[in-house]
Amino acid sequence: MNKHSFPNGLQDNHGIGVFMKKHMNIPIFIPHEGCPNDCIFCNQRKISGCTAAPNEAELRQVIRAHLSHADHPRDSEIAFFGGSFTGLPFSKQEQYLKIAEEFVRAGQVGGIRLSTRPDYIHEAVLELLGKYSVKIIELGIQSLDHDVLHRSRRFYSPETALKACQLVKNHGFSLGVQTMLGLPGDTLSKSLRTAETLILQQPDMVRIYPTLVIRDTELENQYLSGQYQPLTLNDAVSWCSEIVPKYEAAGIRVLRIGLHHSENMEIGAQVVAGPVHPAFGELVYSEIWRKKIIYQLSKAMESGQKLIIHVPASDVSKVIGQHRKNMNYLKQAYGFTSIKVLGDWKNPNSCHLEFQG
Ligand code: SF4
Repeated sequence: MNKHSFPNGLQDNHGIGVFMKKHMNIPIFIPHEGCPNDCIFCNQRKISGCTAAPNEAELRQVIRAHLSHADHPRDSEIAFFGGSFTGLPFSKQEQYLKIAEEFVRAGQVGGIRLSTRPDYIHEAVLELLGKYSVKIIELGIQSLDHDVLHRSRRFYSPETALKACQLVKNHGFSLGVQTMLGLPGDTLSKSLRTAETLILQQPDMVRIYPTLVIRDTELENQYLSGQYQPLTLNDAVSWCSEIVPKYEAAGIRVLRIGLHHSENMEIGAQVVAGPVHPAFGELVYSEIWRKKIIYQLSKAMESGQKLIIHVPASDVSKVIGQHRKNMNYLKQAYGFTSIKVLGDWKNPNSCHLEFQG
């Protein structure tokens, strides 16, 4: 892969989704640029396979290359990620922004988005970004627990992170937040508290990343020496299934759950250990559905012999679960002789249970 080409759907811990059906991000990868230190879990070069930020010519080339196959270029955004954009010297930020702005002014893309650290958000830098077509600022919050932040070498306080959220919103930008689950010292209750506190900040969108042990990171050393254990896949799915519905109930878009899966991001490639799965988000939504159905079942324990579950057509496979996991569970737990899942329910994110004797 060329050092400035990008795999489909690339994500990083300050990550930004790359190709979506209509909306497209044009990813400009600036690995570790502007970062004060390496956080213990992070190695952007391993995650992406890209080694250096582009120069001016390369930046224009990357943007043009993506635009050449964009179906809806005006819905595209130029997305700076993989580093701490607002930690760069102002002159460097302006150098990038001016080039991106050329494409916005020419009507070729819809705007600019970027990701950065919360401790690099302040009035002066937001005023700078406000001079350009920056629409979305994503903050790598990761956790709002002091100990977890410190052990991850983030070196800012939860208060700083919350203040950054409000500054971004007060300056009129859309706010994205990124959190990680299962960092050293993390627990489910800490992650739930982080989510609940972030929801109060009313971000527009969130990305949730269970922690993976990436090659050539301090976390790899801690894992190999037995000081750190990542979440199991089951735990990571279970934690996400508790946290995701909280954001969704508050009307906050969940843009991504888990790093984008690619050959690079498999155990044995750049991932040493951790809850990797090619369809991680699907597992989470399947678990969420299982919990929703169990909740409804518990309210309707006068169950008959047969169960018919009516759900939105787009959710049928998630309700059934991989290898019919949810169906098998319901049969075993509640003794149904048969279970049918019908995609005929019109209300999104809800279901209707029908019992037949
Ligand atoms: S600040 Fe962000 S990009 Fe930089 S090392 Fe930490 S997690 Fe990685």
